[in-house]
Amino acid sequence: MPSVISTDILIVGAGVAGLWLNARLRRLGYSTVLVESASLGGGQSLKSQGIIHGGAKYALHGALTGASEAIADMPRRWREALAGNGELDLSGVRLLSEAHYLWSPGTLAGNLTSFFASKAVRGRVDQVKGQDLPPALQDRAFKGKVYRLAELVIDVPSLVERLAELAGDSLLAGQRIQPLKEGETLVGLRVDDREIRAQRIVLSAGAGNAELLEALGLNQPAMQRRPLHMVLAKGPSLKPLYAHCLGGGPKPRVTVTTHPAADGQWVWYLGGDLAEAEGVAREPEAQIAAARKEISNLLPWIDLSQVRWATLRVDRAEPAQSGLVRPDNAFLAEQQSLMVGWPTKLALAPDFADRVLGALERDGIKPGNLPALPELPKPPLAQPVWEQLLP
Ligand SMILES: Cc1cc2nc3c(=O)[nH]c(=O)nc-3n(C[C@H](O)[C@H](O)[C@H](O)COP(=O)(O)OP(=O)(O)OC[C@H]3O[C@@H](n4cnc5c(N)ncnc54)[C@H](O)[C@@H]3O)c2cc1C
Repeated sequence: MPSVISTDILIVGAGVAGLWLNARLRRLGYSTVLVESASLGGGQSLKSQGIIHGGAKYALHGALTGASEAIADMPRRWREALAGNGELDLSGVRLLSEAHYLWSPGTLAGNLTSFFASKAVRGRVDQVKGQDLPPALQDRAFKGKVYRLAELVIDVPSLVERLAELAGDSLLAGQRIQPLKEGETLVGLRVDDREIRAQRIVLSAGAGNAELLEALGLNQPAMQRRPLHMVLAKGPSLKPLYAHCLGGGPKPRVTVTTHPAADGQWVWYLGGDLAEAEGVAREPEAQIAAARKEISNLLPWIDLSQVRWATLRVDRAEPAQSGLVRPDNAFLAEQQSLMVGWPTKLALAPDFADRVLGALERDGIKPGNLPALPELPKPPLAQPVWEQLLP
């Protein structure tokens, strides 16, 4: 006999989207079960750069239309949560940088002129010089301009740990997921040998959503994957740097974030254009060579002789887009008791949760005063990628 559990909201996928939503629902008094098939945060979330975008980057290619986009409000909402007085209590989560920077090597490039003319950016960036420059750029040989964006960078491993704490007893390690139906109506999911009944089911499984939809006999909403080939560097000469380095094009030529390793060294995590199409086509050795060359050109005073390198291939999972991508809102689709979505950015996890809560409110779904859950097998926390690749 399968064991039967009843909960208000059943969530599948414990990346930042599922974990954040779960914590908010619990705070509002809902009973929840959050199912994870691998490790907490081990999908895209712990592979992300942890930048809490406010949308300034999109102004570079004109995709941000104005302050109405959800992303513009994200730094404030995260800041409040980190201070312990927001929608979640994330006090204790490590803030890596109060700001992310825009860095234009050489003289003010043409793209920056139009960038600063754009409405989305005006009043949100300040130029920094001298001792206010990020530590890695504080060298006499440094030329170029640096602007401070009002965007945070957070330590994602400590975020996932905190959200796992806020999940209390709701986490469930589970692999085999099948629909649980009464007639044609989806009333829950069968997870391994458990039947879990719920008022609503939310799929927030990142790249796993496509397969879950298939298991439920659905083919909408369609998903797309955007492959990236990221580079990691670790060595005693690397100092903190959180910046988009601008090239001529609409995308940052390289985006650098810096992460603390368990042995006290800093790890640089390199994305941006370097990790996109051409980078994806390169073999790991060629990708490392390209990254090394880029860093030597941009920051020639940094001694790379003791730096160790690694690469990481990872796909971004998003709703399929036709034409111009709208990167500045989370996405949620609904079908009766089922909701499926992607935050599209770590920064937009609060917006993803808003969309689910909005649907619950609209449908009058309230906490059902259910009995406490039995003890469930818990999924493990994922390890940071740099500890896996550059121990
Ligand atoms: C290299 C990289 C850098 C990024 N940098 C940033 C950044 O700086 N700022 C930003 O805002 N965004 C960034 N992003 C985007 C961000 O990481 C993602 O949008 C976000 O983490 C997605 O969260 P998620 O919870 O939807 O998915 P995920 O983190 O992928 O979580 C999905 C979870 O579902 C689980 N799962 C899958 N299938 C099943 C199943 N069948 N049953 C149960 N569980 C399942 C997975 O194991 C996983 O734990 C970056 C992305 C990448 C790839």
